[in-house]
Amino acid sequence: QRRPLIAGNWKMNGSLVTNAVLLSELQSGIKNLSASAADCDVAVCVPAPYLAQVQVALQTSSIAWGAQDVSAQAGGAYTGEMSVSMLKDFSCAYAIVGHSERRVYHAESDALVAEKTLRLLEAGITPIVCVGETLQERKAGLTEATVARQLNAVLSVLDAAALAKIVVAYEPVWAIGTGITATPEMAQQVHAFLRSQLALMNAELAEQVQILYGGSMKPDNAVALLAMKDIDGGLIGGAALKSIDFLGIIAAAI
Ligand code: 13P
Repeated sequence: QRRPLIAGNWKMNGSLVTNAVLLSELQSGIKNLSASAADCDVAVCVPAPYLAQVQVALQTSSIAWGAQDVSAQAGGAYTGEMSVSMLKDFSCAYAIVGHSERRVYHAESDALVAEKTLRLLEAGITPIVCVGETLQERKAGLTEATVARQLNAVLSVLDAAALAKIVVAYEPVWAIGTGITATPEMAQQVHAFLRSQLALMNAELAEQVQILYGGSMKPDNAVALLAMKDIDGGLIGGAALKSIDFLGIIAAAI
């Protein structure tokens, strides 16, 4: 039985003032949810300048935190980048890699995403590896080919044992920030396919990998999505910025 993981991706949103409110509402909200809140992993992936703030605010809470990206380089002359050791300094448990917004706006390749994943694993930080097809790719019948290419680039640099240490997020690009979600059945189909790809490497460990769905997940569609066999949680954008919505999704997962 896989634990659910509900992870917020704040993207480039927030401020010291609004974060403080959100973080305190999340902490008290989770306490009020129920004892079974302990059965759900919860994390927030925040803009890098706020890692210090979340580290202090969440230190004694059950909510984990992480970054939205990391450099594939260990350090040096890479202006604007942040290394895994910097993320370690702020006790990040997670970092997102390969988000479609990085792939599109920053031309990140499958190979670069694989390198970043490796750096995170070496540092003991859990990578949340994002994959997902565009609307064009879906219409052309290339959904499975696309996500397989993206996932296998990462798997090709990992030891089979490392499988147990990654999280995969399926985020159909056409569902991100659009209000359009994949139906639970459509998402489940891709999740099952992703797990079958993982199983080619190690069938037993593939059963342990948390595969998250991302793309306009909200409290009202979360129950049906999370009820699917291979959907183990969510990577939440817009709805992670409002405590009532994020808590509603956590409630749907427990
Ligand atoms: P939305 O929930 O805003 O659609 O964003 C999803 C996402 O990209 C999470 O990484």
